[in-house]
Amino acid sequence: MSHAFPFLLSLAALSILGCHSTYRSTARELGYPEATRTIDGQHVKLTLPSSDKPSEFCFTIGKRPAEIDGVQYYLNKPAGRKNLSKDDILLLRQALLFPAIPKTSALNLLIDPGHGGKDSGCRNETFTEQSITLAVAKEVQQLLRELGHNVNLTRPDESTTLTLDDRTLLGASLAIDAFISIHVNASTNPEAKGVETYTLPAFGCEGSLPNSPPRGPLVGHAHLPMSTRLAYYVQHALLKKTNTDGENTITDRGVRHAHFKVLRDTPAPAILIEIGFLTNAEDSVRITNPEEQKRIARQIVQGITKAFSQTN
Ligand SMILES: [Zn+2]
Repeated sequence: MSHAFPFLLSLAALSILGCHSTYRSTARELGYPEATRTIDGQHVKLTLPSSDKPSEFCFTIGKRPAEIDGVQYYLNKPAGRKNLSKDDILLLRQALLFPAIPKTSALNLLIDPGHGGKDSGCRNETFTEQSITLAVAKEVQQLLRELGHNVNLTRPDESTTLTLDDRTLLGASLAIDAFISIHVNASTNPEAKGVETYTLPAFGCEGSLPNSPPRGPLVGHAHLPMSTRLAYYVQHALLKKTNTDGENTITDRGVRHAHFKVLRDTPAPAILIEIGFLTNAEDSVRITNPEEQKRIARQIVQGITKAFSQTN
């Protein structure tokens, strides 16, 4: 009798065992050993028995884009064959599953309308990024003030000489709970559209843009769990716009990571929101319409207040 049979048998046993253990320790380290694991080829879904926190986590082995309750989220490292990276497990746990108790009293926030003064940011024939970001930021400020929060803008009008350094220093001097930078995107590809929200990559991890090597440790790394929580809930809120068929009309470009100056050096939780593309026909109509700007502002406020509430 050949020895091949028991050998094949043990290989089969190993592969069953492998599948059996896939993402089991990830579930345990996320704090949910009883999570349901669904494995379909390269796709892994963890369903957590949780009603008050994000519950459905989808990963693709070898890839960074993931999905958390339907919102695209770039992992800091590609999903492994058997588990997520320790960096991602720790961050997801701290940011979304077992966060430090967030503040519920009046918040001290700094809203940063991107660009200004001689720096108009991106532009088309009619609009500049700096005027769109200012309009949205003013709405955000007003709505948050109506909720009783203390809210400053880095610039109150279109004439500013504030550098990026000045903006982060302002954040330090005001002892803020969070820094929210609002921007408008542009691309040479007119088809590019949608919303994305940035945080700093975790220490030792690459950004999600090309040529974004690890940097740090940086000031912003100390605040990454709350920055991630903010980015997730703001991105989640900004996607809620449906057509008459109930389909979502906003393209989800995800929670991404970049070493932007304001994310690196602000000594507080910090995010940078790209509300849409001025170079895309559909998006440019959306982000320049005053009513839509108000809707975007309302959604940013919903995301911020959700991130700071004790319940998810
Ligand atoms: Zn910008």
